[in-house]
Amino acid sequence: MNSELQEKLKLDHPILLDAVIECEDGWYKLIDKFCRKMERKYKSAVSINNIEQRTGTLRFVFTFHAVGNNLLKHTKILKLILDTELKSEKTCEVCGKRAKLRLSDDKFVFVLCDKHLDWMKHEDLVEIEEHEL
Ligand SMILES: [Zn+2]
Repeated sequence: MNSELQEKLKLDHPILLDAVIECEDGWYKLIDKFCRKMERKYKSAVSINNIEQRTGTLRFVFTFHAVGNNLLKHTKILKLILDTELKSEKTCEVCGKRAKLRLSDDKFVFVLCDKHLDWMKHEDLVEIEEHEL
C-alpha cells in the first residue's frame, strides 16, 4: 500500500498505530471500514499488529486486550475480522473492484479483477473454478 494511504489509515484509526500494512491499495476501503466498525463497537479491545496479503487474501494479525472472559465479545470480534478477510476474496487487491481468486503457473494466489490480471507480471494467471475451492 502506498505510504500516503497507510499514513491516512493510521491517522484515522488509532487501532492501526503500530500496524505493519503489507498489501496493495485496492484493500484500503475494506481496512478502513473494518477499523471504523472495530473502533465504534469494540474500542481498545484489539490492536492490529500486521495487515498482510497471505495466500492471496487479506489477513489480520492482532492482539486481544481487555476482553477478559467475555466469550460473546471475542466471537463477535473474530467474526468481524473473518468477514473482512472473506470480503477480500472478491475484492481486487490493486483497484478494489469486484475480483476473483487467481492462481499463477508458479502457484501464487492473487485476488485480481480482469483489468489487473497482468499485475506483477504474472501474465499466465488462470482463474480458479468455483468447484476447485
Ligand atoms: Zn483491479
